[in-house]
Amino acid sequence: EHQEMMCSGCGIKIQTEDKERIGYTPKSALERDVVICQRCFRLKHYNEVQDISLTDDDFLKILNELGTKDALIVKIVDIFDFDGSWLPGLHRFVGKNPILLVGNKVDLLPKSVKRSKVIQWMKRASSEYGLKPTDVHLMSAESGEAVMETANLIEKYREGRNVYVVGCTNVGKSTFINKLLKEFGADDEFMITTSNIPGTTLDMIDVPLDDGSSLFDTPGIINHHQMAHLLEKEELKTITPKKEVKPKVFQLEAGQTLYFGGMARVDFVQGEDQSFVCYFSNEVPIHRTKLEKADELYKNHLGELLSPPNKESAKDFPPLVKQDWKLEEEKQDIVISGLGWITVHGRGASIRTHAPKGVHVSIRPSIF
Ligand code: GDP
Repeated sequence: EHQEMMCSGCGIKIQTEDKERIGYTPKSALERDVVICQRCFRLKHYNEVQDISLTDDDFLKILNELGTKDALIVKIVDIFDFDGSWLPGLHRFVGKNPILLVGNKVDLLPKSVKRSKVIQWMKRASSEYGLKPTDVHLMSAESGEAVMETANLIEKYREGRNVYVVGCTNVGKSTFINKLLKEFGADDEFMITTSNIPGTTLDMIDVPLDDGSSLFDTPGIINHHQMAHLLEKEELKTITPKKEVKPKVFQLEAGQTLYFGGMARVDFVQGEDQSFVCYFSNEVPIHRTKLEKADELYKNHLGELLSPPNKESAKDFPPLVKQDWKLEEEKQDIVISGLGWITVHGRGASIRTHAPKGVHVSIRPSIF
């Protein structure tokens, strides 16, 4: 029998093959009278939104859709991976709609860092990307820090309009929405539904607000430039910071190299002695060596001393790609997308970075 089944919650075609894609339903659930997809099931029974994968094409359609609305856009970025989680195209699509830019995972920043400085930095970086947010805010969706303030800001700026929450995967969008649902969605009258995005097979979570408007959680796009795609799940846990990052300071002279596990490497090729302050997950091992010995070390010890990647994933790990940089400013960050950054204190250093093919490396004025 070859009958197509549709989810009675969101209307998506039911499939039983791929858990990560939309429409997934376990085979056993097909026996029920009313079949709904796992995403709707979790939403209905646990008040919980689930991540789904998305193609770039579908994401463009979502962005286009946003431009046609009169709404408040809430854009969430991961402040620990600001550039990697940015969503470059957004400003071309939002039209006149105001944007509230929310930097999530503030709990990861060292306590010594002034929040106001981070906000200043986010404003500057946004304007370099061509985006002028109405306001910029920091929160920690996970710890709950400043989540209510975010909700209040949304209320303030939406002025009765609908709200669209956008962000790439892994920025903590679901954690945030789930916190909101817990806070506001407890009573039975509060009905969460999904609503379709025209031209796509995707739908948004539709959270009703009390004046009849809605807060829509749009699906997040996958960021292809991140380290995350090259490692196993367990290793990913190592490189993803879980708590306050403790900066590690190295006083280096020219001719020295730092290895970040076996995932990336920074050579101090030329310049006066200066300090390299490393902001990475506390579990990423940093190894200092002589530049002249660095190649050999990698050849002989990738997957062991230089890990992650472990021995197994080292086999498929892409070759490291070199890039040369001259740091002209006093304090600049070398950013390795999805992994962390190094603040170089000093001027005029010649640096060579090595990062896996496809992982983005960039230089920016220091955050702090
Ligand atoms: P989404 O893909 O944007 O929906 O992201 P998730 O909500 O699934 O979160 C991605 C990962 O980031 C999970 O491992 C979360 O536990 C973690 N996370 C989310 N919010 C925070 C936060 O405020 N601080 C920290 N440290 N981690 C967070």
